[in-house]
Amino acid sequence: MEKTIETKRTILPEIKSKIYRNKMAGPNCKRCGTCCRKGGPSFHLEDKGLIETGKIPSKYLYTIRKGELALDNVTGRLAPVKTDLVKIRGIGITWTCIFYDPIQYICKIYDHRPVECRALKCWDTREIERIYNEERLTRKDLLEGFGGIWDIIETHQKRCDYHKIGVLAARLKSEEAQKDALAAIDELLRYDKEIRSLVAEKAGMDPDMMDFLFGRPLTETMVMFRIKVEMTGEKYRLVPV
Ligand code: SF4
Repeated sequence: MEKTIETKRTILPEIKSKIYRNKMAGPNCKRCGTCCRKGGPSFHLEDKGLIETGKIPSKYLYTIRKGELALDNVTGRLAPVKTDLVKIRGIGITWTCIFYDPIQYICKIYDHRPVECRALKCWDTREIERIYNEERLTRKDLLEGFGGIWDIIETHQKRCDYHKIGVLAARLKSEEAQKDALAAIDELLRYDKEIRSLVAEKAGMDPDMMDFLFGRPLTETMVMFRIKVEMTGEKYRLVPV
């Protein structure tokens, strides 16, 4: 009797895990994990409920803001995005989706995985190519109803618009315009940093949500203008790269 109970205890989780893994595998997927290691998916309108119901908590998301350079997984080229891309974070500084378990080769949110993950079949890319640029989910779709925070996000988006920052970055090359451009970029870097601390502190929000609300920090994204931001004490230094 004891043995039976022990056997059930040991085997059942293994069977369950196999069924779970097979569900993820599908007929042709070898569960190599390559697609999950290449970066989390972008969300589409169809995925809205996954975030709204907390099945995928917003602290695991980040936003690539309009105008930011991003890799187009279909063309394989870097290009400025035309609208917000709301995406799932990577594990630490890697691109591996935060919901991928690299030990068991499984998706931890398999039953609630976004539409891109369901559409992506590496042996037949027609479905992912068809939906890839369609009906992207934006911050507006998710947050417009939240008056206070949405107003702050819109203000941030206008001030830190990537097209405007690109113009400032170009002016750094001109001797006459360089000083003003430096001051303007410095002000934006400070604003971008402070707004995140302020919202986290005053609204009591999880600091991990800030990259979803305001996109990746400017200190990181300036590199797309071939500028590396270094900080010494309270001072920013812009280094051409
Ligand atoms: S959500 Fe799941 S299936 Fe999609 S990339 Fe992440 S681990 Fe892979």
